Amino acid sequence: MKSFLEKGINFLFPVNCCCCGGELKLSFNGSLCSGCSGSLEIINSAGCLFCGKPFKEFYGIHNCGEIKTNIDDFYVAGYYSGNIRKVIIEFKYERKKYLGKLLGQLLNDLYLTRINERLDLIMPVPLTGERKRRRGYNQAEVLARELSNFSGIKMKKRILIKTRETETQSLLKKSERLKNIRGVFKAKKKLFGKSILLVDDVATTGATLQSCSGELKKSGAEKVTAVVVAHG
Ligand SMILES: [Zn+2]
Ligand SMILES: [Zn+2]
Repeated sequence: MKSFLEKGINFLFPVNCCCCGGELKLSFNGSLCSGCSGSLEIINSAGCLFCGKPFKEFYGIHNCGEIKTNIDDFYVAGYYSGNIRKVIIEFKYERKKYLGKLLGQLLNDLYLTRINERLDLIMPVPLTGERKRRRGYNQAEVLARELSNFSGIKMKKRILIKTRETETQSLLKKSERLKNIRGVFKAKKKLFGKSILLVDDVATTGATLQSCSGELKKSGAEKVTAVVVAHG
C-alpha cells in the first residue's frame, strides 16, 4: 500500500518509466527505470561535418553528397533508435518537458568526453514564436538550458532567430531540405571571434544545423561546434 505522501508525490512527479511504462521507485529521481537507462545506447561519437552521421574510424565528410560545411565539429550522443528515440519522442511530442534534464545530461556527458575545450556560448536551434507556442516550448532550448546548467557555459537564446515558418523538414526529400531552410535564420548580434556550441535534439541531413551555422559564421563566429542527442 502506498502512503499518503507517496501518492502525493506520485501525483506531482512522473512515476512511470518513459520507455517501458514500468513503475519507478520513489528513490529513483530519473525518468527511466534502471533497466531502460542502462540500455540507452550512448556512443558519444564525432559525426560527419555536414550531416552529423556518426563516424567510427575516420573524420570529415561522409558520402552524404555535400562537400561544404559551416560546422567545425559535430558530435552525437547516439542513434535515433531504441530507447533514445523513445525518450526524444516523449520529450518533443508528448509535452514531457522534464525529460530535457535527462537528455541535457547526455549532452553534457558528450561535451565532457568529446569536446573538452572552453566555448563562449551555447545556442539552441530556434523555432518561430508560433511553433514554440503550439508545442509549449522549444525542445532545443530546453536542452541548451540544461547543458548550460551542467557545463557552466552561458546560453543565449535570442541572438539566433528563425524568421519565418518552414515546411517540416522530416516531410521533405533530402534534396529539398537545404532549400527549404536556406536564409530563414538570422543572427541579431555580431559574434566576432566567438566559439559557439549549437544544440539540437536530432540531426538527419544536417540541413537545419548547417543553415544556422552559416548564419552564425556570417555574423563573425569563429567556430561552431554542433551537438545533438541523436542522428537518424
Ligand atoms: Zn523502463
Ligand atoms: Zn554526412
